[in-house]
Amino acid sequence: MIDTVLPTYNRAPLAFVKGEGTWLTDEQGRRFLDLGAGIGVNALGHAHPALVETLGAQAQALWHVSNLYRIPQQQALADALVDKTFADTVFFTNSGTEAAELAVKMARKFWHDKGQPERGNIIAFHGAFHGRSAAGIAAAGSEKMTRGFAPLLPGFTHLPFDDLDAVQQAVTDQTAAIIVEPIQGEGGIRPASDTFLQGLRTLCDETGTLLILDEVQCGMGRTGRLFAHEWAGITPDIMMVAKGIGGGFPLGAVLATERAASGMTSGTHGSTYGGNPLGCAVGLKVMEIIADDTFLAEVNRKAGLLRQRLEGLVAEHPEVFDSVRGQGLMLGLKCKRANTDLVQAGYDEHVLTVPAADNVVRLLPPLTITDDEILTATAALDAAAKRLETSA
Ligand SMILES: *Cc1c(COP(=O)(O)O)cnc(C)c1O
Repeated sequence: MIDTVLPTYNRAPLAFVKGEGTWLTDEQGRRFLDLGAGIGVNALGHAHPALVETLGAQAQALWHVSNLYRIPQQQALADALVDKTFADTVFFTNSGTEAAELAVKMARKFWHDKGQPERGNIIAFHGAFHGRSAAGIAAAGSEKMTRGFAPLLPGFTHLPFDDLDAVQQAVTDQTAAIIVEPIQGEGGIRPASDTFLQGLRTLCDETGTLLILDEVQCGMGRTGRLFAHEWAGITPDIMMVAKGIGGGFPLGAVLATERAASGMTSGTHGSTYGGNPLGCAVGLKVMEIIADDTFLAEVNRKAGLLRQRLEGLVAEHPEVFDSVRGQGLMLGLKCKRANTDLVQAGYDEHVLTVPAADNVVRLLPPLTITDDEILTATAALDAAAKRLETSA
């Protein structure tokens, strides 16, 4: 008989009942160090006091009113995002894949309104992940994501990641936009080179093509900058944000320049829940904490410590690990043994990590992780690696 919960997830036999900072407690009272953070969602850890207080206060006052009315929390969060980024305007969603939907609609509407409706094609990259909606899976394009779901949303071209020549040859007068993750998350913590991102920006400037960055996983301080593209010194025309922005409350956003957003006039898009007072109140508090130079400097310092420890693990266990990659607190351990075996051995050592493609184990700890927790976590990963060595 089918599970009453649709069986689309491959779940570990763990159920957590409480979270505090970087720690989770399961039903049996066992404590786990959480280096997955809900796949980069709990950017400020679990039950951050300022977020608990903000959510509680907003819950007492008002949960939902509909976008038929002005929502001051939404306005405040949009102002904060615009203040700290390239963007002139923001639309709020509840998730990353809804942000992908709008990014695609926005790019196509832009060219439609310019009198070039045929300019609707979007270039995307192998290994990409943009969520599970119709636009999201069509944008990713992989067999794994799309098999069985045809007919797919048309108008996507897929090219090798980080290959500027391929993009230069593929951009035509039918190309509306290029969509790319500055660091591929699900794809295995694969960073795009600065020269690739800079080359895309130049190409887009020359051709008018819109550059869409998917910073759902790598944004919101994850890499040690507020947004990952800042490392390459470029800005997008459209950017997707979600995961960390709500600190655990479902929240996403599309940020855009005035030019890119020019087609999205009244009535062209909407969302029932998107930008509700609860999500936006929490998001504003998350922004206040993360969009701060001192906070981000700490992320970079701790990232240095974690990376150094992980390099040590690679040197210590050359049969288990191949290398470390990524930026900030978005790190991947490329494995020589099955990544899922390492994740499992981590469970046995009470440390949570997340598998990704390309046989990588992802580490996306809360940005608030302490030095002590980094040492404890990497000691647990060391013990996990030893488990694999002795079971070989
Ligand atoms: C998680 C993710 C998404 C999808 O976000 P959902 O909230 O699961 O819809 C899109 N893009 C990237 C890069 C992601 O990591």
